[in-house]
Amino acid sequence: MREQALQRLKDVFGYGEFRGQQADIIEQVAAGGDALVLMPTGGGKSLCYQVPGLLRQGVAVVVSPLIALMDDQVATLQELGLSAAALNSTLDEHTQRLIASQLRNGELDFLYLAPERLLKPRTLQFLQTLNIALFAIDEAHCVSQWGHDFRPEYLQLGQLAELFPGVPRIALTATADERTRQEIIQRLKLEQAACFVSGFDRPNIFYRIVPKDRPRQQLVSFLGRHRGNAGIVYCLSRKKVEDTAQWLSEQGFPALPYHAGLSTDLRASNQRRFLNEEGLIMVATIAFGMGIDKSNVRFVAHLDLPKSIEAYYQETGRAGRDGLAADAWMAYGLQDVLMLNQIMANSEGDERHKRIERHKLDAMLALCELTTCRRQALLGYFGDELPEPCGHCDNCVDPAPTWDGSEAARMALSTVYRSGQRYGVGHLVDILLGRDNEKIRTAGHQHLSTYGIGKHLGEQEWRSVFRQLIARNLVEIDLDGFGSLRLTDSCRPLLRGEETLLLRKDVARSAPVPGRYADKPVIAESDRALWESLRALRKRLAESHGVPPYVIFPDSTLVDMLRQRPASLREMGMVSGIGAHKLERYGADFLSVLQQGDQAEAAADQDRQRAQEVHALALAGMSAEQIARQRGLPEKQVYLRLAQAITAGQIALQHAVDLPEEQLEQIQDMFLNDAEEDLPGVRAVAEQLEGTVEEGVLHCVRAALLLEIAG
Ligand code: ADP
Ligand code: ZN
Repeated sequence: MREQALQRLKDVFGYGEFRGQQADIIEQVAAGGDALVLMPTGGGKSLCYQVPGLLRQGVAVVVSPLIALMDDQVATLQELGLSAAALNSTLDEHTQRLIASQLRNGELDFLYLAPERLLKPRTLQFLQTLNIALFAIDEAHCVSQWGHDFRPEYLQLGQLAELFPGVPRIALTATADERTRQEIIQRLKLEQAACFVSGFDRPNIFYRIVPKDRPRQQLVSFLGRHRGNAGIVYCLSRKKVEDTAQWLSEQGFPALPYHAGLSTDLRASNQRRFLNEEGLIMVATIAFGMGIDKSNVRFVAHLDLPKSIEAYYQETGRAGRDGLAADAWMAYGLQDVLMLNQIMANSEGDERHKRIERHKLDAMLALCELTTCRRQALLGYFGDELPEPCGHCDNCVDPAPTWDGSEAARMALSTVYRSGQRYGVGHLVDILLGRDNEKIRTAGHQHLSTYGIGKHLGEQEWRSVFRQLIARNLVEIDLDGFGSLRLTDSCRPLLRGEETLLLRKDVARSAPVPGRYADKPVIAESDRALWESLRALRKRLAESHGVPPYVIFPDSTLVDMLRQRPASLREMGMVSGIGAHKLERYGADFLSVLQQGDQAEAAADQDRQRAQEVHALALAGMSAEQIARQRGLPEKQVYLRLAQAITAGQIALQHAVDLPEEQLEQIQDMFLNDAEEDLPGVRAVAEQLEGTVEEGVLHCVRAALLLEIAG
């Protein structure tokens, strides 16, 4: 069985080996057993039912909640040379009948269905007349009433157990705390299923969280390392989504808005563009995401705080499904916390529900203010132990500076207490800084013993102290919706001086620290041109097939192509993700782009070598004229090369040209006198000299001048 599975993996999918638990899962299902698979996004869940689907007789039926997603999956399978179809309400009668007849004739390997379609009595009856290889239930957490993706139809999928005894069922999901897992088992009747739980880690995602300080600038400086990459920027409000999208576009980052307030058409069209074009940024509310299967999202940025770690994990998880390096970046501030609290306070729902939401927000905040490994904390939240710090998050690569904030915290806490636990951060900071305003005077707060005792810190620093006190649950925000702070029980030891408090030091306002990342960019600068050519070819093919580019090849395949540089079709077949069918279809096209790239590179190499020779001869004392004759090059070209060598600091001006001192000065003056912002071009000076000096010589003089000016 394993042998056969591996063979399919190689021939059809073009991969060399199984990942993680894939092989075990496939063996279980191919042998007719049920399985529950919990695997993080990008872990490779699809293969877990696709390979057994091929190994077993009959059609594999895949239940998936989103039609858009299904079309992508079907296209992906078809690109692999498999026969697949999706049955949904958007199809016309004729196509539906065609699919039915393909099914009857046993011509389909895979059939994708939405649950409501599958559960129609007619569909079920029809399926019972067929040979079914397996049922795969994707996004199985949709069965959970507690999760945010609940789909009532999923509840009825349990019927499959009785209606199709002997047909293996495999349920798959990326989100599964213990409770959801139990719900899936119970509702889908998977008591007999083997459970495969992979950790939650997304090793290729780099996490960074920064305190908000001119967030747009921060965002742009983060995006600087993602030019040409696709990504998602999440914002809380619709207005902010639109403003940010527009602003990013003005800054030269192509961005589109997405939120529930846009017309259905515009939303669909923006989503389509995001999937089909390369390098677009989607600025979105959380309405965007479920059903985004785009594998090469290189970053997810949050301009506002998500309301729970679950949400953060899910949203950031949309980055890097292809396994290549990806960034999760967030800027957060006190204002975010207050805003979310207000939304929560105004939301409907009972006290208990609000309390749960509140705890979730607290956990999210704690993650933001953490000074130790983010990944350890993130995974720990889901009950997943990471024994060592990850070395691949901001706190691991740039340890956060800290300071002893015990004294400041005591001042802040006692200000909260003495002013009656009824005020928000703004007013509390005014008290600490001893400010004089109407609100202070009306309340008589200028008489408090803490009035003006905090002048040694600035406004920003006090806000940072309060933010961290909230994050550590030493104070809490009242659910009154006004953002008033109250002490919690856990602040007592600190107030009594039994505990000290180490606080994170926010980086000073003026220092635009770009932040280091552990990863090199996915594409090395020297490979950029070839990468773009490969992407361009992929785009052309995708357009002519009417599918998104990543359905033709995922980025990881193109990256592997760059690394392996196959020189023949046989070698092309060894590239990760190129199975027999794709090799036959696309191998030659991509090979020729690679070869052109090689030629361009070889030409550049030769060019560099010639330039070397030319300037070596110049250094040896030969004149340009002599070099030209010896090398059989036009003199002008020799001069141009020499000018380049001057610019590069490899030779001095006198190695390149032989001019009387006086004439040289005259020429230099001509350049300098006409200079405005820049030196005038060679042509203009040549005209003034009426052709008495060769242009090539002028190039060299100009190059030397530029070097001098640049100092
Ligand atoms: P998930 O559904 O778990 O998010 P996918 O099934 O979409 O993940 O797989 C993510 C990516 O990893 C896809 O590009 C897939 O082709 C690739 N992949 C899956 N399994 C393997 C494997 N064994 N070797 C190499 N690539 C794999
Ligand atoms: Zn870490």
